[in-house]
Amino acid sequence: MKLTRFNHKGTVNYGRLEEDRIHELKTGGKDIMPDSFLETGREYSLEEVRLTAPCMPSKVICLGLNYRSHAEEMNFPLPKVPIIFLKPSTAVIGPQEPIIYPPQSRRVDYEAELGAVIGKKAFNVPPDLALDYVLGYTCANDVTARDKQPAHGQWTYAKGFDTFCPLGPVIETGIEDPEALAIEGLLNGKKVQASNTSDHIFSVAKIISFVSACMTLLPGDVILTGTCSGIGPMKPGDIFTVKIATIGELSNPVKEES
Ligand code: MG
Repeated sequence: MKLTRFNHKGTVNYGRLEEDRIHELKTGGKDIMPDSFLETGREYSLEEVRLTAPCMPSKVICLGLNYRSHAEEMNFPLPKVPIIFLKPSTAVIGPQEPIIYPPQSRRVDYEAELGAVIGKKAFNVPPDLALDYVLGYTCANDVTARDKQPAHGQWTYAKGFDTFCPLGPVIETGIEDPEALAIEGLLNGKKVQASNTSDHIFSVAKIISFVSACMTLLPGDVILTGTCSGIGPMKPGDIFTVKIATIGELSNPVKEES
């Protein structure tokens, strides 16, 4: 299932995208696992609605350095444990929403990433059960004010600006193996990142286990699994697209703060 959230005349609901039709869904409780959703019978064409971010995370947990190729381009040694940081929920935007270039920065980078979306509360989950807590997978852009990264010693400021976490366009719930997905980043249509999640240093299952031993993961929380090589800057007027096999394409324009 390609799960979306969409805005129709000011009301936001979950929906199942099939071809260019959205079938409205409702949830029966707090969990948002694939079998938690019920069809309402209402449906819309894509032209009638605006897709929003496909989930509402309480927190976005991100991996630094999780592709061997990216560790090499940054000249960093391979990490022995997952290096994590958080993006605030206020950074999340949906497909086609603008990434706002903050006036504090002179270099804002794209980072195409696979996002794993948690579907039910997870605490202290062992790796072999971790994927049972995943609703599905989405495209993500870990937007980074690169020039702000070194000065702060850690990455919250550089990666926490409003609009710095585009997610979408859908959550694909049918992916059984998240470690075998082709991932690409395109700047104004030109391929600048190309890899496969098989290059992950830490698997999604290991990351969920590691993170959930520290903090409870809630339905809608998203784990960004790190970026591959090829990172680079964007400027106002650019469009960046994250493309992941079987999920789809997430595109966002970059705009100057008005
Ligand atoms: Mg990243």
